[in-house]
Amino acid sequence: MRLRNVPGSRDIIAESRFTIKNETEQKGKWNTVFGNDHPIHIEIGMGKGQFIMTLAAQNPDINYVGIEKYSSVLVRALEKQEIENLPNLFFIRMEAENIAEVFDEGEVDRIYLNFSDPWPKDRHAKRRLTSVAFLERYEKILKKEGHVIFKTDNRDLFDFSLEQVEEAPHWVLLNHTFDLHHSEYVEGNVMTEYETRFVEKGNAICRMEIMQGS
Ligand code: SAH
Repeated sequence: MRLRNVPGSRDIIAESRFTIKNETEQKGKWNTVFGNDHPIHIEIGMGKGQFIMTLAAQNPDINYVGIEKYSSVLVRALEKQEIENLPNLFFIRMEAENIAEVFDEGEVDRIYLNFSDPWPKDRHAKRRLTSVAFLERYEKILKKEGHVIFKTDNRDLFDFSLEQVEEAPHWVLLNHTFDLHHSEYVEGNVMTEYETRFVEKGNAICRMEIMQGS
């Protein structure tokens, strides 16, 4: 994500009714945040929020939490949410490494990862959101039958992710494609900001869906 500092974005986030400030205090209590028992789907690294906002509008019976570490990006999503006022969508500004402090065991029904940072250097591999280190964190919060759905145009990151799923003791690959937009999985696909840009450039989009095995 290109980073331009947006002055005052921290204050806007602190004051918005759509952001959760004391996120670790909501652990195990997300149903009270939303005021219902609907399933919870999260997107980690949601950027400006086009994807999660489209899903939230399409699926009023699913609760969405968008997670993003940079204020300057998150404020863009907040601006849109101020207009749309979707009751089933909240945002957290946080580093995803701490995700298991925010959601309880089995509290999350689905995790979306879209165009996650590639961290190309080997020594940063653990920071990739599909590394075994992150899969272990997802295990702590995701329902047993819950899926992680990952899209990227970065073939190296995708190949790495396939290897990590293989390597991780508790994960299975349900399906994958190296060219989403010419595959059966494109039906119902919701575009992200990055995806729109990369598809226009002619890049193939990779997608995988994984879950915890027995
Ligand atoms: N999902 C959006 C943005 C992709 S760019 C889209 O597809 O258009 C990746 C985003 O993930 C950036 O906004 C970046 O700040 C965020 N991000 C990367 N690593 C993160 C982490 N560890 N915790 C929280 N957000 C992260």
